[in-house]
Amino acid sequence: MAETRIPVLNVKIDPVTMNEAVLIVENFIIEQKSRFIATANAEMVMMAQTDTELASILNKADLVIPDGAGVVWAARYKGHSIPERVAGYDLVQELLRKSAQKGYRIYFFGGAPGVAEKAKQWAEQQYQGVCIVGVRDGFFTPEDEPEIINQIKLCKPDILLVALGVPKQEKWLNQNLHHLNIPVSIGVGGTFDVMAGVTIRAPLWMQRANLEWLYRLLSQPQRAVRMLALPRFVLKVLLPKKH
Ligand code: UDP
Repeated sequence: MAETRIPVLNVKIDPVTMNEAVLIVENFIIEQKSRFIATANAEMVMMAQTDTELASILNKADLVIPDGAGVVWAARYKGHSIPERVAGYDLVQELLRKSAQKGYRIYFFGGAPGVAEKAKQWAEQQYQGVCIVGVRDGFFTPEDEPEIINQIKLCKPDILLVALGVPKQEKWLNQNLHHLNIPVSIGVGGTFDVMAGVTIRAPLWMQRANLEWLYRLLSQPQRAVRMLALPRFVLKVLLPKKH
């Protein structure tokens, strides 16, 4: 891995490029230990200010990619060098492409009923030969969990994508990682929603201009309250003592 981890408030982030992140995932698959990858953005970091369990899960993750433009800005503002933003959605697309080339087995867990299945169908059209070995929606009761875990294990994935939202996906994985015995598990938030066409990602020019948050605010105004975390994050980075 490149440099040491970079602190963004109380969460440490790996300054990796997309290519490095993909190579790290491929090494994790070779090594066959149960690795957990988190995709850090400003909202997650703000949650980790008060949710100490989440903070500790993130800080013991095997890789924390700089998913959001906010964390990249904050790291650079504090004088650290961080090569680029590595959006979780984009990492998933790279891994699906690799799966089509190398046969990596991928499992989709999470999203509303039907969404992971639709995301799978989309991926199969997009990446000919991709190997998606199972899907399960993310709405379940504690009684369903043993069956879900068994199903996932039976499918023997190399990569488990978990989309239950933050912090549920990180906490679920922290609890279950070790009996799942899967080389790589990644918390991927709204990724299946985008792949299934339930939500639409900002156009590339907005992503490049670091305005993806604005697009999200305009297209999903119901997220406005949650998104108040973003200006609070900026203030906390700029004026560490007061916020
Ligand atoms: N979700 C789920 N189970 C739950 C709560 C949420 O599967 O109990 C899914 C939800 O359907 C959505 C994803 O988790 O697909 C969360 O998406 P969001 O964009 O909110 O991700 P975040 O911003 O939390 O990363």
